Amino acid sequence: TYEYYELNLIADTTKRMADVVKESLKKIEFEKMVRQEFFTNVSHELKTPITSIRGYVELLENDMAANEEMKKEFLYRIKKEAQNMANLINDILMISRLETKEAEVTIKDIRITPLVNEVIASLKPMAAQNNITIEVNCQPLTIKANDGQMKELLNNLISNAIKYNKPNGKVNIIIKKEGNEVIFIVEDTGVGIPEESKARVFERFYRVDKGRSKKMGGTGLGLSIVKHIVNYYGGTIQLESELGKGSKFTVRIPLS
Ligand code: ADP
Repeated sequence: TYEYYELNLIADTTKRMADVVKESLKKIEFEKMVRQEFFTNVSHELKTPITSIRGYVELLENDMAANEEMKKEFLYRIKKEAQNMANLINDILMISRLETKEAEVTIKDIRITPLVNEVIASLKPMAAQNNITIEVNCQPLTIKANDGQMKELLNNLISNAIKYNKPNGKVNIIIKKEGNEVIFIVEDTGVGIPEESKARVFERFYRVDKGRSKKMGGTGLGLSIVKHIVNYYGGTIQLESELGKGSKFTVRIPLS
């Protein structure tokens, strides 16, 4: 009957509403867990260098450096640990800005060539340390985006291609338009990424080789920031890599 039909409809709608609420609660719980895990990781990542700095300071205080050279080594390590902490704080600030200020991001017309050249210029000293050649092939394109975010994206991909390269290695950067997309390709001849880590490198704090990452001033946050920026523009990121041969990151961002 008509009434029966109505009741059924109400029951059905109520059930669907309950499902939506259940799903939302699950999502909130999940986000809370992710946040909690993030803070645990951050505290751990900050405590480690602090402990290490304290250790070296105590050694110096107690005149435990056998000679000038050792003293210099301790001071160098203190400087390095402090730099790593600064990198971490910068990346955390970047994540926080990305998460909370998305509505305030200013989008302008950006010319890609000068932007990529600026990023490369700032990374040249790091590349020179290992005699790494950077080759760029960039079409003269303009995109509507945020300047800071685009610099961050390119900086993270290109600095990784340098950091995880081999001595005398190469970094090849291609930026071009294809259909309605801008494609950024950053390819290197470095150490490569093992199959089982390919999906995980985009997770916060995941590193294939923690020692190497730390030595190079890495935080384990760079690629998660890249992914966040790519998602913001409705784009995609793809990784191809062969262990011992190199890696290739391809970012596609829709124009408009
Ligand atoms: P990190 O600050 O450690 O470089 P990222 O989030 O940028 O953090 O990268 C995560 C991990 O992915 C790195 O620690 C490294 O192990 C691996 N990785 C990233 N880019 C490359 C690359 N071009 N070649 C080889 N390994 C890479």
